[in-house]
Amino acid sequence: MAKKYRVGILGATGTVGQRFAQLLEGHPQFEITAMAASDRSAGKPYSEACAWKLPGKIPASVRDIVVTPIEPPLDCDIVFSSLPSSVARETEEAFARAGYPVISNSSSYRMDEDVPLLIAEINGDHVGLIEKQRERRGFGKGFIVTNPNCAVVSFAPPLAALHRKFGVESVFVTTMQAISGAGYPGVASLDITDNVFPYIAGEEPKVETEAQKILGVLGANGIQKADFTVSAQCFRVNVIDGHTASVRVKLRQPSTLEEVVDAMKTFPSLDLHSSPENFIEVTDEPSRPQPKLDRDNGNGMTITVGRIFPDNIFDYRFVALSHNTVRGAAGSAVLNAELLISKGLI
Ligand code: NAP
Repeated sequence: MAKKYRVGILGATGTVGQRFAQLLEGHPQFEITAMAASDRSAGKPYSEACAWKLPGKIPASVRDIVVTPIEPPLDCDIVFSSLPSSVARETEEAFARAGYPVISNSSSYRMDEDVPLLIAEINGDHVGLIEKQRERRGFGKGFIVTNPNCAVVSFAPPLAALHRKFGVESVFVTTMQAISGAGYPGVASLDITDNVFPYIAGEEPKVETEAQKILGVLGANGIQKADFTVSAQCFRVNVIDGHTASVRVKLRQPSTLEEVVDAMKTFPSLDLHSSPENFIEVTDEPSRPQPKLDRDNGNGMTITVGRIFPDNIFDYRFVALSHNTVRGAAGSAVLNAELLISKGLI
């Protein structure tokens, strides 16, 4: 049997931490051996520390793991981090310095120029930054890679498909983001029931900048960011899981509707355990994608795109959807770990 890597989860009791526990149950390459969270949880068995919010029971393999503080050493080979950004920067650095590969969901390091911001299917080659990062920061064997903001993950893949074929010049995006994106307990029920909330703290700057790094080109001097502008407005909506993005895009080269659809449909997936069969699924149903119906496509790892039409102001418009705690968080981090193993970096 192939070697199983022992993994530790920072922020294990939270919304994303629970999704890690669910996705890693029975994973052929990973087994969870350490769970860490705040002082409120440390010292308790996971089943007691965690208010489990996913369908089904807490996986048997993690129920009795005693939660530890978020400090190295942890009894594991790889660290997945789902910490709030307020504590992630210092903690993730401490783990990388102690020799652990750190695969993070937090925003703390995403835009650092020596840290890969990965969507495995799009820019797996950006792991080429790791060697420089290790040297520059004196990390030894450890390193940090990140996955993008959960709203960016919904529209960066179709943009990547268009950018490769026609070049993207500008993007206007409105996101409709699920309640689970705010963690637990998250948004007050009286704020979100019967409501659309037009403000998510710190979100719009992330949505306006991360895609350019993801679609950037790795060269000798690091990543040259893609040269397009994004204008974003981000809303919290009354949906449990699944972020929807309404996108309008101006392209650098002329393209037909058929070519635009084809670029998205044919964008390749990967051959890794957590890769979906279709990275981007295009639907021509007039009323799709919908979070309730499409967030679980490809076990939550597929980006579903629909309503692709020519636009009266930009060139094209479309609606893109992804599962925010799977493709937008834990699922992407697990896929990134599989990618790093396949490239011999773990
Ligand atoms: P959450 O539900 O609030 O969970 C936070 C976790 O961090 C809990 O395990 C909590 O432990 C721990 N924690 C909080 N403060 C801590 C401290 N001072 N020291 C140590 N541990 C602490 O949040 P989440 O939604 O899982 O988000 C976690 C991270 O992932 C955030 O950076 C978020 O931006 C990012 N992210 C979230 C999503 C999403 O859809 N939710 C998607 C992408 C990225 P206790 O239970 O002990 O308090």
